[in-house]
Amino acid sequence: MTSGGQAPRHRAGAGDPSIRRTWWLLALAFLALGLASAIRVVQSGSLGDWIVLVIVAVAALAAMAHRNAVVRLEAGGRGEAEGFARILRGLSRSVSAEAIVGAIMDDLVATTAVDHAVLVRRRRDGTALEATLVTRRAGVPASTTPLPLADLEAPPEREAPAAQPLPVGQLAPERALAANHARPIVRRQPDGVAFPVPVGPGTPAATAAAPGRRTAAAGFRAGDETRDRVAALIRRALAEGVSLLRDLGLPVPERRRRERLGPASIVLARGDEAQVARRIADRVRLVFGLSNTLTVPLRSESGMSGAIVLSRRAHEPWADGPRRLLLAAAVETSAALARVDTYREAATRAWTDPLTGLPNRRYFDESCGLMSQRRRAGDAVAVLMIDIDRFKLLNDTYGHPVGDEVLKAVATAVARSVRDQDVPARIGGEEFAVLLRNPGPTVAVEVGERIRAEVERLDLRSLRVPGVSVSVGVAQADDPSEPISALVERADRALMRAKRGGRNRVVAAGAAVPA
Ligand code: GH3
Ligand code: MG
Ligand code: MG
Repeated sequence: MTSGGQAPRHRAGAGDPSIRRTWWLLALAFLALGLASAIRVVQSGSLGDWIVLVIVAVAALAAMAHRNAVVRLEAGGRGEAEGFARILRGLSRSVSAEAIVGAIMDDLVATTAVDHAVLVRRRRDGTALEATLVTRRAGVPASTTPLPLADLEAPPEREAPAAQPLPVGQLAPERALAANHARPIVRRQPDGVAFPVPVGPGTPAATAAAPGRRTAAAGFRAGDETRDRVAALIRRALAEGVSLLRDLGLPVPERRRRERLGPASIVLARGDEAQVARRIADRVRLVFGLSNTLTVPLRSESGMSGAIVLSRRAHEPWADGPRRLLLAAAVETSAALARVDTYREAATRAWTDPLTGLPNRRYFDESCGLMSQRRRAGDAVAVLMIDIDRFKLLNDTYGHPVGDEVLKAVATAVARSVRDQDVPARIGGEEFAVLLRNPGPTVAVEVGERIRAEVERLDLRSLRVPGVSVSVGVAQADDPSEPISALVERADRALMRAKRGGRNRVVAAGAAVPA
């Protein structure tokens, strides 16, 4: 949210004048104390004076470290608030799931200073999950990879089936993914859905896909545990010391660590959700070769719908800021995705004929409108108008419900006969139309003939109907400037000629009359 017109009277935080004055006072007091202690050391040089001087110096350093920490915390808090506001703005403007993913991921990566962010959600066709990975490195485009649906849908206590070792021979060449690139190896499953082959240390997948599982054979001795605890304490103390030096603004170099699938996989969830989120996080870590991850579930009305996984190459602990931001972003993203789903469902309903499931007249008209606007010189377009022959008679003879079934069968035949890029629609009672994009000179008539033949071949014996036929009118735009509405009229006239010519036939319209 923007601050609008009213500026606050005081700037709160470390930049505030009253706080600055306090700092100056403190600094002067320490300076005076330090000087006094130093003079005493020079004059007497006793051990007590030395101790006082050291204590004053340590207190001064601690005060400086504290100040730096406060300034950093404040900047972090401000950045967090601004980042969250940006995320909200992006989400509120997004009207598609893709736009939401784009809006949230870029801002999340920028605001939380992570190296990678992955959003996992159910694919629109419901056959798999899809993981969209955004990388901090400039110029690296977002990439989307399918993941097994079982990672989300299998009950929490069950292992995800696809995490089993892959049969030898089906494995793609094993290739470790660097943590900062995102070109997973993709393998096509028998059902046509391509899943990436988990790679990285720990492959085969099964061993690495179940982290946290301890082998029973690993019998820990009490002495080992104590040693481990002491080592952990020393590591912690060293880390705190390094952090203190950094707080003082000293340039302490980052320790370079070997890139590996580290144990740091934090999940911000509880119970079953935590288990499912962890399973998704493990998959994402393996597929993209990520380490040090922070994961939060996405929720919909019907339960968990996916997850967001943040990852950093540096093995630093996750501060509260990114955790808070990720939790809030997940809530907003879940709500925005649910809103888009509702919108999409409503739009689909508004554009779909409920009886046949084909696009309706409105969708067809919109498609023609869009096609008119986007048409470039040279783009070919054709329109097919299709009408069932003597359908009134069929209704009168077999009844309206049987007529409905025949309509559905004809719709299926029409949809089956056109290419993916074409738009078939039911535009009236027993009338259909197809908008053909970029057909070759003879393709439109060929498609018309294919539809006619498919309908003629329909086996309607289960409805006790001997058969049904359609007449088709075809018009192709030879002149790119011809409006599509004129093309539709020409196809309509060709359809009438097909009816007059005896039905069950395809008639191509004559050339357009120049305006
Ligand atoms: P022609 O060969 O000249 O096209 O003859 P026709 O009988 O098909 O044409 P007409 O326009 O006279 O009849 C169309 C029929 O389509 C009339 C109507 O009962 C039927 N119809 C329209 N919508 C539906 C529907 O949703 N379900 C059913 N069962 N019939 C419908
Ligand atoms: Mg008709
Ligand atoms: Mg008819």
